[in-house]
Amino acid sequence: MQNNGEAPRTDSESSSSNLAERLRRAERQLKLLEQENHQQRVRMSELEARREELLSLLNQDPHTALPIRRIFDRDFRRVSEDHSSRSEPLAIAVVRLDRAYDRIKNSRDRGKVFLFRSAARIRAVVGDCVYQSDRVDEFVVLLGAVKNSRRARATAEAIAREISAPHEPPAQDVAFGCHVGVCLYSDGEDQREEIVGNAYIALEECELSRRAVVVYSAELGNRYREKQTIEKELRRAIQDGFSEFTTVFQPFVDRDGRILGAEALIRWNNRLLGSIPPGRFIPIAEETGDIGFIEQWMLYHSCRRLRNWRDRFGTDIYVSVNISPSQFKQADLVQRIVGILNVLKLPGSSLKLELTEGAVMDNPEQAIEKMNEIRSHGIRISIDDFGIGYSSLNYLRRLPINTLKIDRSFIEDLLLNSNNQEIVKAIISMAHSLKIEALAEGVETREQLNFLLNERCNSIQGFLFSRPVAPAEFEEFLTAGGVIHCCADSHPAVAAQSDAR
Ligand code: C2E
Ligand code: MG
Ligand code: MG
Repeated sequence: MQNNGEAPRTDSESSSSNLAERLRRAERQLKLLEQENHQQRVRMSELEARREELLSLLNQDPHTALPIRRIFDRDFRRVSEDHSSRSEPLAIAVVRLDRAYDRIKNSRDRGKVFLFRSAARIRAVVGDCVYQSDRVDEFVVLLGAVKNSRRARATAEAIAREISAPHEPPAQDVAFGCHVGVCLYSDGEDQREEIVGNAYIALEECELSRRAVVVYSAELGNRYREKQTIEKELRRAIQDGFSEFTTVFQPFVDRDGRILGAEALIRWNNRLLGSIPPGRFIPIAEETGDIGFIEQWMLYHSCRRLRNWRDRFGTDIYVSVNISPSQFKQADLVQRIVGILNVLKLPGSSLKLELTEGAVMDNPEQAIEKMNEIRSHGIRISIDDFGIGYSSLNYLRRLPINTLKIDRSFIEDLLLNSNNQEIVKAIISMAHSLKIEALAEGVETREQLNFLLNERCNSIQGFLFSRPVAPAEFEEFLTAGGVIHCCADSHPAVAAQSDAR
């Protein structure tokens, strides 16, 4: 048999070529599998990256790209654990953009660009420890370990400076700042809610006191909690029909001690807190809006008391009632007052309203209009606590007022402080040139009285003549002829009066 010159293949040769072929096939398969494996791995890592991306989107704020509050809670725990054995305190801060931002947020910042930039500015100061709070315009900062409260304050101040720095063109006309409430703590995790709450108390204090930075203190916390109790009790006492409130009266006298009128002042004796001075609860009532109920009650009750005195004693004295800035702005104020006077058949001249400089100067044109309306009913107007505000002399000339009540602070150290003497002299002579009454409040000594009389101050109010007294005690003055002698031991009514405050 011919084999074309080729040597015939032996059995062993053909089986080794089979093996080589199978090996090659196996290698090809292996390569394919490896390729597939690689693709799978690539796909896996793509999926992993996507998962991370989705997760971080879920954990970050869409406007500022900051981690959200939930992540803050997690990191707060981590930082607390990491520092559990260290002695220096930890700190957090809450940063809230101020009202100026509120005004632009719907017009200039619809795209939330300024919000994003604000977050970036905070991060530029403190790094990656900034979180979005539950409000869009508010951020929480995990300041971590701080040496002391001064250092924490300095960082917070740096944040405030950074936020209020000018923006770049074309937004250089956009200006807003922020408030920063800071809380230092040493033992974290268990009291996270309380620590964050304390930073918010400090933030609220910033807004109330118009300070950029406030660091929480135990004293601030107590004051805040007491304020909350007052707020709650005030609401309840009003709803319960005002039984915890009374009105006291402090006379105004002329140069001869004749009573011209009386200022009605509120007193509150609370079932839990005892006697609370008006200087403490009136500002709170203004904040909550309860002042409206209080002043309506005061107006009615003091006018009703006056009606009674006019009927029983045939006197023509007037009452003077304090009107807070927010109430002065109420559209129906005059209508309500005139309603009370009509019901009690009292003339407008029986009532004087005490307004503060701030209430008037806030919007002088509108105030002048309102004051003219008040005056058109014969009701008179005093500017209370005059001299400590920022009255514009130009407006003062145009205000339809009857009385300038010189603030007590000028009278207090009148004889020791020559500046105050000059101020008091200037106020009295200004009142006279405007043809209005000068009234000094807080007169406690004969020397103060002599100074004021010498400067031709028209009328006087102060402990020298009488403290604010309950109606029954005030009636003793009226029974005694309506004249008070300033020397306490020379007048039985004055000598007998107790401190009704
Ligand atoms: P105000 O209207 O300036 O009242 C004068 C305050 O000075 C009163 O304090 C009065 O007791 C006190 N005072 C009067 N004479 C003297 C004095 O010779 N020496 C000293 N040391 N103090 C004197 P009070 O009653 O505690 O009232 C504080 C403030 O609370 C008032 O200041 C007024 O702003 C506000 N207030 C009181 N009652 C009312 C109210 O019914 N409505 C409103 N809106 N505010 C009221
Ligand atoms: Mg007053
Ligand atoms: Mg006053």
